[in-house]
Amino acid sequence: MKYIELGRTGLRCAQISFGGIPIQRADAANTMAVVDALERHGMNYIDTARGYTVSEEYLGAALEGRREKFILATKSMARDYQGMKADIDRSLANLRTTWVDVYQIHNLPMDDFAQVFGPGGAFEALEEAKAAGKVRHIGATAHNLDALRRLVEEYHHCIDTVMFPYNIVETHGTQVLRQARAYGMGTICMKPLAGGNLEDWDLALRFIAQADVMDVIIPGMGDVEEVERNAKVAEDMRPLTPEEVERCQAIRDELGQHFCRRCGYCAPCTVGIEIPANFLMANYLRKYNLNQWAQTRYQNMAHHAGECVGCGACERRCPYQLPIREMLADVAAVFGY
Ligand code: SF4
Ligand code: SF4
Repeated sequence: MKYIELGRTGLRCAQISFGGIPIQRADAANTMAVVDALERHGMNYIDTARGYTVSEEYLGAALEGRREKFILATKSMARDYQGMKADIDRSLANLRTTWVDVYQIHNLPMDDFAQVFGPGGAFEALEEAKAAGKVRHIGATAHNLDALRRLVEEYHHCIDTVMFPYNIVETHGTQVLRQARAYGMGTICMKPLAGGNLEDWDLALRFIAQADVMDVIIPGMGDVEEVERNAKVAEDMRPLTPEEVERCQAIRDELGQHFCRRCGYCAPCTVGIEIPANFLMANYLRKYNLNQWAQTRYQNMAHHAGECVGCGACERRCPYQLPIREMLADVAAVFGY
C-alpha cells in the first residue's frame, strides 16, 4: 500500500482508502468486519458524512478502542454557524471521538459561498471547532468545477483539502486540482467508479493513480469483499498498458457526460420516483441485456419514470445539471410506462 501526504495537513494516508456511503446498506456487525479489513490492509483514511444516515454511528462503534489507528473525515451540509456547530458535536458523539481529522463543508455549490463564508456562516463554526481541537483540518467537497475553482483560487489559505469527482470519464477537474496541490491543499477523489457506472474497478483506480492529481482515492465500500477487492488493486498499482489506455477512451466514448452518478442529491421527487434506481434499471436492460431481471425489478418499484409530472425540482438539485426529465422519458420509453 502506498501512503501519501494529504497536502499541507501532513496526514499520511493510504492512497486507496475508504468511502463511507455504502455503509448505509450494511449493519453494525458488518461495519465492524469492514473496519477490521481496513485495518488489516492499512487503509487508514475513513470518510463519512452527517448525511449518510447511520454511517457515522456504525463507524463510531467499529472504531471504539482503535480510533488513533485511523484518519477520520466527515462532512456536513449545514451552511450557517449554528447548524455547523451542532453537526460537528453530533459527528463527534456519533463517531465516539474527541476530534475529527478533516471536517468538510459538504457539496458546496456556487450559490452557497456567500452564506458559508460570510458572517454567521458555517465556516465560523469550523474555525471555532479547529481552535478548540475538535477539528484538525477544514475541507470542502464540490461537484461543480466553478465551485472547485473558487475554493482553490479564493480560499486556498483557509481550506486545507478539496474533494471532487475524478475518474475515467470525468477528468475536467485536472488543472484546478493541480493548482490546489500547488497551493498545498490536499486532494481527495470521490466517485472513482463514476457512481457505479465503471465496472472494471482495477482499471478505474489505476487510471486515477496514474493521473497523479489526487492524493487519496476513496471508493465506497459496504462489505469486506469490496475492501479486499480494492486492497488488491492498491497492492498491485501498475501503470496502464497501451491497450488499457485505449479501453479508457472506449469507455469515455460509450458513456459520454450525461450519466447519473447515483449521488441522490435530486431527491425527493415530487411524486416519489426513485430517480437513480430508474436509470439503473434502464441501464441493466440496455447495456447488460438483463431483460427479465430488469423488467421485474422495475415493475416492483413503487413509482415509475412515466409518472414524472415534469416539475423540474429534481433538475435544480442535480449537481451535474442532468436533463432528468428527458432521461426519465427515455426510461419510460424503454419499459413502456
Ligand atoms: S421533474 Fe419529474 S422526476 Fe423530477 S421531481 Fe418533478 S416529478 Fe419528480
Ligand atoms: S440524477 Fe443527478 S442528482 Fe440525481 S442521483 Fe443522478 S447524478 Fe445525482
